[in-house]
Amino acid sequence: MSDEADEIAERKMQFLFALRSKGVTDARVLTAMEKVDRGPFIRGYFAERAYEDMPLPIACGQTISQPSVVGLMTQALRVTNRDKVLEVGTGSGYQAAILSLLARRVYTVDRHKRLVQDASEIFRALDLTNIIALTADGSFGLPDQAPFDRIIVTAAAEDPPGPLLAQLKIGGIMVVPVGQSDTVQRLIRVTRLESGFDYDELRPVRFVPLVEGLGRDG
Ligand code: SAH
Repeated sequence: MSDEADEIAERKMQFLFALRSKGVTDARVLTAMEKVDRGPFIRGYFAERAYEDMPLPIACGQTISQPSVVGLMTQALRVTNRDKVLEVGTGSGYQAAILSLLARRVYTVDRHKRLVQDASEIFRALDLTNIIALTADGSFGLPDQAPFDRIIVTAAAEDPPGPLLAQLKIGGIMVVPVGQSDTVQRLIRVTRLESGFDYDELRPVRFVPLVEGLGRDG
């Protein structure tokens, strides 16, 4: 192997090791995360830190989540290859790209048009044809495409948004960080039952807030 190939293999091993040591153990999730290179989702100055297990700044004052948190949320969502998934908070597009390898179809929305455009460009370049990225206020979900088998919210809400609960199929699962911004939030898994909702508290997390309305660029 060339030095460069060696370096890439070593970097990938460390990346996967960090995921496992933080509790990402699901084989399908690990395989998807091995396949999706985080590098292209981070532009500019921070690109060289793409393989470290830390959140990083992206455009529009937002952040790409820490890989281990992406892994734990994806694992908690229990996605199957028959699922239609909604992601609220496209950001860089990294989480959506991972979901696209696990699900039948992924709808991802962000309130910033620029982020949706940048992410769509990467999806095209990577030939991820089962992702549909749209500019929208995701606190209202995506009524035209509802109901969903799985919903993942990657921004923190004070409570699980009512419209998202309503757009979840019976037997469906939603993973959402809940709590005030600027404090530690709790990651919640909501399962829709015939008779209501079951709530499961998973772990403390820290996300940018879910904000109502479109961004000024959107
Ligand atoms: N999942 C992303 C990280 C998301 S950061 C990734 O993999 O990179 C949170 C994102 O949620 C931001 O891009 C922010 O613009 C978006 N967001 C916040 N409130 C929103 C809302 N009401 N509707 C849609 N997107 C929202």
